[in-house]
Amino acid sequence: MISTELLPLNIGGEWRLGGGDAYESLYPATGEPIARLKAASTADVDEAIVRADLAFRTSGWAQKLPHERAAVLHRVAQIIRDEAEPLAQKQRLDNGKPINETRALVASAAGTFQFFAAALETLEETITPSRGPFVTMSVHEPMGVVAAITPWNSPIASEAQKLAPALAAGNAVIVKPAEVTPLMALELARICEKAGVPKGIVSVLPGRGSVIGDAITKHPLVKRVSFTGGTATGKHIAHIAADKMMPVSLELGGKSPTMVLEDADLDHAVNGVLYGIFSSSGESCIAGSRLFVARSIYDEFVTRVAEAAKALRVGDPASERTQMGPLITAKHRESIERYVELGVSEGAHIRTGGVRPHGAGMDNGYFYTPTILEGLTNNARTTQEEIFGPVLVAMPFDSEEQLIEQANDSIYALAAGVWSRDFKRAWRLGRAVQAGTVWINTYKQFSVSTPFGGWRDSGLGREKGREGIFQYMEQKSMYWGTNDQPLPWANQ
Ligand code: NAP
Repeated sequence: MISTELLPLNIGGEWRLGGGDAYESLYPATGEPIARLKAASTADVDEAIVRADLAFRTSGWAQKLPHERAAVLHRVAQIIRDEAEPLAQKQRLDNGKPINETRALVASAAGTFQFFAAALETLEETITPSRGPFVTMSVHEPMGVVAAITPWNSPIASEAQKLAPALAAGNAVIVKPAEVTPLMALELARICEKAGVPKGIVSVLPGRGSVIGDAITKHPLVKRVSFTGGTATGKHIAHIAADKMMPVSLELGGKSPTMVLEDADLDHAVNGVLYGIFSSSGESCIAGSRLFVARSIYDEFVTRVAEAAKALRVGDPASERTQMGPLITAKHRESIERYVELGVSEGAHIRTGGVRPHGAGMDNGYFYTPTILEGLTNNARTTQEEIFGPVLVAMPFDSEEQLIEQANDSIYALAAGVWSRDFKRAWRLGRAVQAGTVWINTYKQFSVSTPFGGWRDSGLGREKGREGIFQYMEQKSMYWGTNDQPLPWANQ
């Protein structure tokens, strides 16, 4: 238990208990409570947003010069680095990821603040070619109060991805982390305060999404929502946004194809496929969950992936040797088990996994073995629906045309992987596959300087990249008259 005391939330700059129900946040590896808190209430939501609006207008945050705001964001990055180990340990408890992964996420959050600080300091507004006796410019203004709604699978990194550019742009930000993983967002609010972000500019409101997330999205003072989560929730938010004429960005689900051609470097591809699906226990929007392998190497390749999957070290997230930790909740594990049952009822053969592991330290946590299903077609429900767990569906392909048709036959289009030594084929497939991100001879690698987002049911809009700051700003065109000539009607 991090503390037996109820943890305070940050409501409009004030640290105090939420007005909602009390609940416990559990460590997925043991099922034990690690923190107690009271969720935010809808009254807290209203208060935080009204105070955020006031802070936006009066605290001076939006008026700071870019290099001044950037200096504060650099301090946020530095504090995250100074506190990296305790943050990584807390995040491990918060969502059960292995410690090596949470260390990487903490480092990535620091890097995100550093990147957006640098981007902010070097952003330029444009003077556009004039078409008359005036100077024309395109400039950007902060929006006011914006919201960041995040899921449980990569806390701190997902929050930083939204908070850093939104703060860089000069906004006040309401963060709604997933109810089951509230701790990292609260830590970020504390760190922002310590770095010099004015009170009220960052609020953190954990609580049930259908109540708190909904109230935030619908609030008239909220000018933009940046959402990461499931496609159904994203569509719901998009409907509310349409009614408010509010911009949104939606980072949603995926069922990403990984394609292994017969000329691939197989050692490299086996590792890449394994990492692509089983790291983060498969609880990853970009998990490479549909595996297409050239028929001539299918048996050899899938045998090697299955052997390597069996050898993965599943267990204690505190151990540096652990490769796969538990799933997030008991309920989520049950949903994965139902998908494996569905796969079997659709004709799948379980090549490996498909059970809960037992043994020291595993019986009370929400562990599940890395699972590979074979014998399904691309149109089976198990192949088409996002499972969000360590379940890989493997299928052979016969031709490049069939491969592309099947890879693109999905409501999702978030990511894809291509493994081939033939750079021309890899290029052709990389361009033909419909996806927001394509990895060639690598997988699940990220750079904050490169935009990220999905097509179709995988989302709308992009995060990251220098342009990421503009997502949280309104564009404004300015015309400055440069002569004394009266306008046409002035003479009438
Ligand atoms: P989710 O159920 O959609 O929840 C995401 C967030 O939205 C949570 O904070 C949730 O709150 C909140 N929420 C739920 N209902 C809401 C509503 N009516 N209005 C506003 N907010 C609401 O998704 P999840 O199960 O937590 O996360 C898994 C999904 O996220 C997967 O589909 C995965 O692919 C996707 N994901 C996408 C990306 C990407 O970048 N494309 C990255 C990571 C995850 P509570 O959970 O507290 O109720």
